[in-house]
Amino acid sequence: MTIQWFPGHMTKARRQIEDKLKLIDVVIELLDARIPLSSRNPMVDEILKGKPRLVLLNKNDLADPKATAEWVQYFADQGLPAFPIDAATGTNVKEILPRVKQLWAHKIEAMLRKGINPRAIRALIVGIPNVGKSTLINQLAGKKIAATGDKPGVTKGQQWIKVGTEMDLLDTPGILWPKFEDQMVGMRLAATGAIKEELLHLDEIALFVIKYMVQHYGAGIQERFGVQDLPDDMDNIQEMVKVMEAIGRKRGCIVSGGKVDLDKTSLIIIRDLRAGKMGRISLEKPF
Ligand code: GDP
Repeated sequence: MTIQWFPGHMTKARRQIEDKLKLIDVVIELLDARIPLSSRNPMVDEILKGKPRLVLLNKNDLADPKATAEWVQYFADQGLPAFPIDAATGTNVKEILPRVKQLWAHKIEAMLRKGINPRAIRALIVGIPNVGKSTLINQLAGKKIAATGDKPGVTKGQQWIKVGTEMDLLDTPGILWPKFEDQMVGMRLAATGAIKEELLHLDEIALFVIKYMVQHYGAGIQERFGVQDLPDDMDNIQEMVKVMEAIGRKRGCIVSGGKVDLDKTSLIIIRDLRAGKMGRISLEKPF
């Protein structure tokens, strides 16, 4: 799903989350492990208003494990517990409940002291489109969730999903908008698939990816595309285009006259990156 965000959409999204927050004890903030800051809503602290929060770095199967470990530390330094997961395969998803319980333990203790039987913790998943919210809800539910609102006789509105006996999860996540005004953020979102590539210039995104890869993951390009000569000067656009042409030639993206089809090459580069075929790549690092 790609949403084009206009100020009206943002106001509505914010109001919807604020309505849900009234029902919620703990928020699960889902970020893309490859681009934790670029996949983060710029107003998230303000919107969540100090609710206890767990940060999950999703799609960690595609991210550089070393960078992810640094990001976990980065969030811990800000007092936010964070850890990586793969919602698609379920890796680390079992860790979520114990960590949510830790965040709510003081309330449970207070209830027990007053002689009140503690109820299940109420949680909400929030994040930008495509970060994996529905995938995670399905993993936590342990099954595909039916669209209950469409069935006759079933009440529309919020439904709770039981995650064991100790946590109830709202079945609809909070959708937040990304910080797309910054051009580099836009590139990272496009490269990872948070924004549809059709909305942007493919060659620009591919050049951004190649430049980043040459700087940080040269071996990934050499292994995947068999391009041996990587340029020293990443700001020399002609040198970078030469790398793209070499990739295009290797992958048979040739048009009549023997020229390289740069659009097709760009698409291959972007798709390979998103599928993890150049290795586990993080496009943003904290330190
Ligand atoms: P939502 O818009 O936030 O609800 O995102 P979705 O749950 O629809 O997921 C968006 C895309 O990301 C889908 O193609 C998912 O299969 C994919 N996805 C979700 N979690 C993971 C993950 O951990 N690893 C990978 N590789 N893909 C994932």
